[in-house]
Amino acid sequence: MEVTVASPTQQELQQIVDDIAGRFVLETERGAVADYIPELAKVDINQFGMAIVPIHGDPVQAGDANTRFSIQSISKVFTLTLALKKVGVNLWRRVGREPSGNPFNSIVQLEYEHGVPRNPFINAGAIVVADVILARQTAGEAISEIVGFMRSLAHDDTVDVDVEVARSEARTGFRNFALGNFMRAEGNLDHAVEEVLEVYFNQCAIAMDCCQLARAGCYLADAGNNGAHEHSVITPARSRRINALMLTCGHYDASGEFAFRVGIPGKSGVGGGILGIVPGVAAVTAWCPGLDDKGNSVLASRAFEELVRRTGWSVFGPLPGALD
Ligand code: GLU
Repeated sequence: MEVTVASPTQQELQQIVDDIAGRFVLETERGAVADYIPELAKVDINQFGMAIVPIHGDPVQAGDANTRFSIQSISKVFTLTLALKKVGVNLWRRVGREPSGNPFNSIVQLEYEHGVPRNPFINAGAIVVADVILARQTAGEAISEIVGFMRSLAHDDTVDVDVEVARSEARTGFRNFALGNFMRAEGNLDHAVEEVLEVYFNQCAIAMDCCQLARAGCYLADAGNNGAHEHSVITPARSRRINALMLTCGHYDASGEFAFRVGIPGKSGVGGGILGIVPGVAAVTAWCPGLDDKGNSVLASRAFEELVRRTGWSVFGPLPGALD
């Protein structure tokens, strides 16, 4: 029987993720893997994983939740956190906070807006954020700092960059080079484009599984605290603002659709993962490598829809009846 509950117990959550993963095994409508990064084109589309890490209580997981995948743009949430810790509100002089309504790697809008990216989650914005992290250190040191941050958040020292994916992106990231060069020309990058992109490609190529990623994202559900180890990652105010950006800008030009259908802050990546935050409750990751035409995972998005339908989780208040 299907469990639909307002404050689900661990057992009920387990039932929900088992149901979702079980149903998706047979699903044939999976979209297509990202093939503009050659290494990602090799990933088996017939995988699905899901993990929920509540801020109080034990995690649940289902399917391929222990298989690592390329976190890609989900890394942008974590580098934004690091950059805010370094430069605070000064960051907003160099990057905006509005949805772009354009594809994640769009060049045209950047030219109209004089090299100031719309938000930190489109590629141009994340490249500026990488430039901030690069200040006063080498690209290698900046990459180690980001990986170290992910390890501490996930409580797992095995988290690392998939170097094949990073190389694959560096070989084919022509649009990202174009974005970087344009912003450098407009005075919005302080470092050499090659160095900034080395940081950016490596952060995108970090490989994590659903459990690690949900654990890492937990501070955003818990007002900036990384629960299990009781350390403050970021202030409650900044955690709230990152959540706001995830809700409005986390799914590229389908951000409105995710807010409409799911109603929680989320960030997707072209590796097929989505990190969702239920403030005060839990961090959730769903992953399936097949993407829709906007670059968001088809089944991971559906998994979130199903999860919020059955739990009532939403930042827009309780759910009195069925969503329509
Ligand atoms: N590394 C990817 C790129 O720059 C990230 C895209 C994404 O996950 O949205 O194209």
